[in-house]
Amino acid sequence: MAAKGRDVTQIPQVRLSDGHQMPQLGFGTWDLNGEVAQRAVTRALEVGYRHLDMATLYRNEAWIGRALAASGIARNELFLTGKVHPDDLAPAAARRALETTLTDLGVDHLDLYLIHSPGVRRYGNAYITCWDALQEFRDEGLTTSIGVSNFTADHIAALHGMAPVVNQVELHPTYSQPELRAQMADREIAVVSYSPLGQASDLTDQVVQQIAETAGRTPAQVVLRWHLQHGLTPIPKSSHPQRIADNLDVFDFELSREQMGLIDSLNRPDVD
Ligand code: NDP
Repeated sequence: MAAKGRDVTQIPQVRLSDGHQMPQLGFGTWDLNGEVAQRAVTRALEVGYRHLDMATLYRNEAWIGRALAASGIARNELFLTGKVHPDDLAPAAARRALETTLTDLGVDHLDLYLIHSPGVRRYGNAYITCWDALQEFRDEGLTTSIGVSNFTADHIAALHGMAPVVNQVELHPTYSQPELRAQMADREIAVVSYSPLGQASDLTDQVVQQIAETAGRTPAQVVLRWHLQHGLTPIPKSSHPQRIADNLDVFDFELSREQMGLIDSLNRPDVD
């Protein structure tokens, strides 16, 4: 029998600066290929995830589309994020990419569309015109909200028109980006943490393991709780059915101020 999902109304929502809302924990889909992606997303939806983080770059959107279609979950209960491929920054290419994403997922709009990366080294300032295109896509209803990923505060300052509602960046205990977090808070830009578990490497840290033991939780649950209590939106990925469920089971305990401080002190930006 399929595992019963948790009550999805318990997943907190982040209020975005454009007035829309985003579930404060999502499911990452990078490195899930073919049927593995379909199975993992099916499992994630069964146990209660409603926010999926996707990208053209991950080459698995058609497989995820099958999982969405089979789930029977109403479109308005889902929060779907997509990303412009780093090579598709030209407005016409970005439009084609978004149309392909919508077709592959079997939906008529996304909830959030991001520029995957500014790509300055290869494409100079192309990210600025790409941002103009994203504003058009939003006005046309192809996506509800728009944002960026891997942007610095300077990249964001160069954009014209409305501000991004989200900046999705690498963020986890050993790379916790306090300066960028403060800059984004000043601009009311919500931060989505990618590689929130440090691609599992932060889970073997002794401090994390000790707190997990004390709390009677897994190291991943402790790290995800740390993100949530900082107001961040983590998007952990797993292909394991039990881990997929465990990573969402983080809304019924709290880390103390002292435990939060201990995890904060793991930041080692130069080592990353
Ligand atoms: P994560 O920090 O989510 O870690 C994923 C790794 O941790 C996998 O190896 C997984 O293995 C393992 N893992 C997951 N849960 C547990 C658990 N409970 N216990 C032990 N190990 C666990 O790394 P990702 O890099 O995948 O980041 C998450 C998502 O962020 C991506 O999937 C993608 O959606 C997004 N992302 C965005 C980027 C961008 O440029 N915007 C760049 C990178 C990622 P297993 O599958 O075997 O469980």
